[in-house]
Amino acid sequence: MTEGVLLANLSISNEDVMHEFGIALASLLNPGDLVLLTGPLGAGKTTLTRGVGEGLGVIGTVASPTFVIARTHKRQNSDSPLVHVDAYRLGSPAEFDDLDINFEKSIVLVEWGRGFADQLTDSWLDIEIERDHTGASEVRTVTITGFGERFNSDASRRHFAELAGGLA
Ligand code: ADP
Ligand code: MG
Repeated sequence: MTEGVLLANLSISNEDVMHEFGIALASLLNPGDLVLLTGPLGAGKTTLTRGVGEGLGVIGTVASPTFVIARTHKRQNSDSPLVHVDAYRLGSPAEFDDLDINFEKSIVLVEWGRGFADQLTDSWLDIEIERDHTGASEVRTVTITGFGERFNSDASRRHFAELAGGLA
């Protein structure tokens, strides 16, 4: 079992800031990276992914992948596509395998992805989005945890601290 390291804890006040967070996150992602998004329906997983898509310069729009399990978005200035997965209806890591994603070449974001990574790769980001439990505000609490060597470095910690500082 890989140990996680807390990289950032953010308070995201609205949809626009969530989008900005996605753009900032994109600047920290490389081909081969895997990001798992966890949070209830309406948390902001797709909103965040749209920001990542803009940051990565994807061609076309990033939509909720609810009717397809995985969508591959080509990018303007890179051979490394953004693969956006909705794992909600996937039953097992074996089914994830069946998607035949080229992980080395792609940047992969998975909604409802928690629990799938251990079998796929050594390093990944886990991003949890929580809604205000009282329902009194639309603020989202975002917790970013890095797993594996790739994200457990001084450089990675510094980059995420800067990202958090930039959004505050
Ligand atoms: P998910 O993919 O997690 O189901 P979506 O991104 O599709 O969620 O939807 C999030 C909804 O919540 C959007 O309608 C968005 O406008 C709204 N929203 C309100 N406040 C926020 C916030 N702070 N961050 C993200 N989305 C927010
Ligand atoms: Mg969604």
